[in-house]
Amino acid sequence: MTQKDYRVLLYYKYIAIEDPVAFAEEHLAVCQEIGLLGRILVGYEGINGTVSGTIEQTDTYMNHMKADPRFSDIMWKIDEAEGHTFKKMHVRPRREIVHLGLNDDINPLEITGDYLSPKEFMERMQEDNTVIIDARNDYEYDLGHFRGAVRPDIENFRDLPAWMEAHKEDFANKKILTYCTGGIRCEKFSGWLKREGYGESVGQLHGGIATYAKDPEVKGQLWDGQMFVFDRRRSIPINQVEHVIVGKDFFTGEPTERYTNCANPECHKLMLCEEKHESFYMRSCSDECRRAERNFFVEENSWTKEQIEEQIAKIAEVQNSSL
Ligand SMILES: [Zn+2]
Repeated sequence: MTQKDYRVLLYYKYIAIEDPVAFAEEHLAVCQEIGLLGRILVGYEGINGTVSGTIEQTDTYMNHMKADPRFSDIMWKIDEAEGHTFKKMHVRPRREIVHLGLNDDINPLEITGDYLSPKEFMERMQEDNTVIIDARNDYEYDLGHFRGAVRPDIENFRDLPAWMEAHKEDFANKKILTYCTGGIRCEKFSGWLKREGYGESVGQLHGGIATYAKDPEVKGQLWDGQMFVFDRRRSIPINQVEHVIVGKDFFTGEPTERYTNCANPECHKLMLCEEKHESFYMRSCSDECRRAERNFFVEENSWTKEQIEEQIAKIAEVQNSSL
C-alpha cells in the first residue's frame, strides 16, 4: 500500500481552558502558520478538532500540542488522505465543545462511563442483556452503525437526553454500551447516563469508532456500512473484514452510500441518494423544497415554473404507484 501525502487528525481533550477566546485566537495563528485546514472548537471544558495537512504539517501540529502539558496525552486519530479535506481553518471559542443541552452540564473529568478498549467493546457487544446506543445523529446512524445498535430518532445531539427520558424503561437493568465517532460525545453522554441512573452499567468505546476501525485485533468487525465524517470525505470505511451496505436511497430505498444535500439552500438536508436519481427528484427532499425560491437544481438547469410543476406531477405519479 502506498502512503498518501496528507493526513486528517481527529482529536479532543476535556481539560480546563481559562480563556477560550484568547486561546482560540492564538491557536488559529499557530494553525495558519503551520498551514493546516480544519475546524477546532475551544471552550472552558476543553478542545475538539479535526484538521488536515501534509504529513509534515500534521507532525508539527501534534508536536506543538504534545509540548503543552495540558494536551500531552491526547489520543490522536490519524487517517491518511489524498489532500486537504477542509477548505478553511477555523478555531472557534464556544461555551461548550459538546452541547448536550443540559441546564446542569456534565464534566466528564468528574463523571463518565467506563472506558472500553475496542476489544473489550467488541466482546461486550455480544454479551446478553446488553443494549448498544448510538450517541450520534440519525443521519450518521443511517450510513453505518454497530450491528444491532439502537438508533435514537434525533437530528441533534442536544436532543438525546429528552429522547432517552422518553424511552427510559427500555434500558432499565440493561448493560448499556455507547459510542460515537471519536469518543467526545460519549464521554459526556455516558456521564449523563450514569448520573441519571440509567442501566446496570454504562460503558463507552474509548477513542470512538475511528479508533475501533484501526485496531489490529478487532479490525472494525460488527460494524455495518460506513462512518459519516464531518469533512469533504463525508464517509470512510470501518469494517476491514466485511462490508455490508446499510444506507438507503432517500427516494427509492435502494442500497447506497452516496450523500448529497437538498438543492434548496434554505433546507440543505443531507440525503443518501444515488446519482442516477438526482435529476428525477430534482435533488430536493420535498415538493416544498422543489418549489423553493432559490433551488440550485432549478437554477443549474434553468427550469421554468411550468417545468417544476410537471416534474412534481411525475414524482407524485411514481410515489403513488409504489405505495
Ligand atoms: Zn429540502
